[in-house]
Amino acid sequence: MRIMNSLFLKAIILAASAVFFATGVCAAELPDQRGTGFDVIVIGSGMGGLSAAAHLATNKLKVLVLEQHDKVGGCTTSFTRDDFTFDASLHEMAGGGPGKNNRGLYKLLEITGVGKKIELIELPHFYRSIFPGMDITMPNNWPEFKKVLKQKWPEEAEGVEKFHKLSSDLMQEMLSLKDMFRYSGLKKFFTKVMVPLRQPTLFKWKDKTFQDLMDDCFKNEDIKAVVSQLWIYYGAPVPEQSALISMAATDAYLGDGIWHIKGTSQALSDAYSERIKELGGVIKTNTRVIKIMLKDGAATGIMTEKGDIFTARYIVANTDPYQLTHKLIGKEHLPSDYLKNLEKLKPANSLFGVYLGLNIDLKKLGYNDTEIFYNTSSDSMDVYDKMMKGVIENGTVAITLYSNYNDPVYAPPGKSVVVLNTYSSINVWPEYQSKAYYEMKEQNENRLIALASKVIPELANPANVEVKEGFTPHTIKRYTMNEGGIVYGFYLSPDQWEKVPNNTPISNVFIASNWTQAWHGVGSSQINGWRAARLVMDIEGIE
Ligand SMILES: Cc1cc2nc3c(=O)[nH]c(=O)nc-3n(C[C@H](O)[C@H](O)[C@H](O)COP(=O)(O)OP(=O)(O)OC[C@H]3O[C@@H](n4cnc5c(N)ncnc54)[C@H](O)[C@@H]3O)c2cc1C
Repeated sequence: MRIMNSLFLKAIILAASAVFFATGVCAAELPDQRGTGFDVIVIGSGMGGLSAAAHLATNKLKVLVLEQHDKVGGCTTSFTRDDFTFDASLHEMAGGGPGKNNRGLYKLLEITGVGKKIELIELPHFYRSIFPGMDITMPNNWPEFKKVLKQKWPEEAEGVEKFHKLSSDLMQEMLSLKDMFRYSGLKKFFTKVMVPLRQPTLFKWKDKTFQDLMDDCFKNEDIKAVVSQLWIYYGAPVPEQSALISMAATDAYLGDGIWHIKGTSQALSDAYSERIKELGGVIKTNTRVIKIMLKDGAATGIMTEKGDIFTARYIVANTDPYQLTHKLIGKEHLPSDYLKNLEKLKPANSLFGVYLGLNIDLKKLGYNDTEIFYNTSSDSMDVYDKMMKGVIENGTVAITLYSNYNDPVYAPPGKSVVVLNTYSSINVWPEYQSKAYYEMKEQNENRLIALASKVIPELANPANVEVKEGFTPHTIKRYTMNEGGIVYGFYLSPDQWEKVPNNTPISNVFIASNWTQAWHGVGSSQINGWRAARLVMDIEGIE
């Protein structure tokens, strides 16, 4: 009976594969059953890894997640110092929540059941933007966002509507293409050929920059600076940033809401972990993978730093593509075209920041904001250049007031948590953990605090600061293993907006991280995880 069942199952899988092949959905071959291990090994438990594992486990595949750190989450972790809990990264998550458009991330959270395990907090504002001579708070939804812009710049009303329409149209068009990564052969060819007709906004704007978009919509330089403020979330400065990412992300935030996770982003990572285990998956922390084992050009499993070997039929890497290709797989096993293309792509920036636990109540002192951007100039090229060179005082600082998130987890009553962030490059930092490194870290923490205290002067008084802890590109590298401590994957200029696909030249190895096609961010990385899982499921014949 068992043999009959397994033959029947195999027949179904083969038939399904044939159908998929015929329709052009996923032409990759079903890998051999190797070893007695897991169906899928996921290397890394950042958002991409956890999401991939949850989707695969939901579809009854046996998954093993291996994480080098002692907790799951990658960037989406938290830590506690004295009275204060700090979110390592997340300020604002796009992608939807209860009562909003259910078209992206939130839908995926519902599919895996992770959505039921978390509580999402909708943030009251999008951002407060401060430029020389201007201070404006932008609301968290399209109608209010447009109202504020039109009140301040009535002569730009038409451009405001145009920006909204273009952003929303683009998002709809991208959603209509959301399965294209699964296609191959004729189906892929025809879908691409039809893009100019079916996705005209995408086609028109794919080679253009955020600056082109601003110039097309607006005349006034101030409104351009305010609307393009979120360049600071996506890496490249406005004149070099792909118009597509800015349009899609703005529509995702203003259409689907701006979210935080109650209990910090660690609660989201832990919810994934719990769900994966409920579904029969295994998660091992403190386990660094050093090698993907190959036989006859396909992966058979992995080896850990301690020399343990686990076998699986598929590998999903939640790593950067450099570690994956250079270290885990080995360049000699990959086609030179793939490697050359990778070398050609420019990576984005890293970040430097300071976590602050304060013994004062900022809300009581009149600070009601959640996210403030203090810009020393509206020339984003110049600001970017300064930040990357380490000239902190001439850059932009993002000031996140976590204790205003209506979540008691961050600080006890009467105290506050604030985190400061600015762009950085690992190249300006001395050798990790050297004396010079610690000296520069201390100096830069104080310089960043001085910049932020132009908005919140209380930050400059050491008597108000109970906890002060900095992070540098080296810190991010240590906790994510991303090359250069890069958190946004590839630099999002128009020529790089497609990043790298979730599949690799090794037919049973996939990537799900910041570096792949659904872009970066807490929400997008989960979509990347789903995409990698989807490719595995296509090969398995799972609908
Ligand atoms: C300070 C900061 C602020 C941010 N703010 C926001 C924000 O407000 N909104 C937003 O949407 N995004 C934000 N981001 C970006 C967002 O956090 C990331 O884009 C996203 O979380 C990255 O997910 P990922 O799947 O690429 O994995 P990562 O978070 O990069 O995690 C990769 C995981 O893989 C593990 N790993 C790597 N190699 C191995 C190996 N060989 N063996 C075992 N384990 C391995 C690492 O330990 C890590 O856990 C921020 C990031 C930072 C750093």
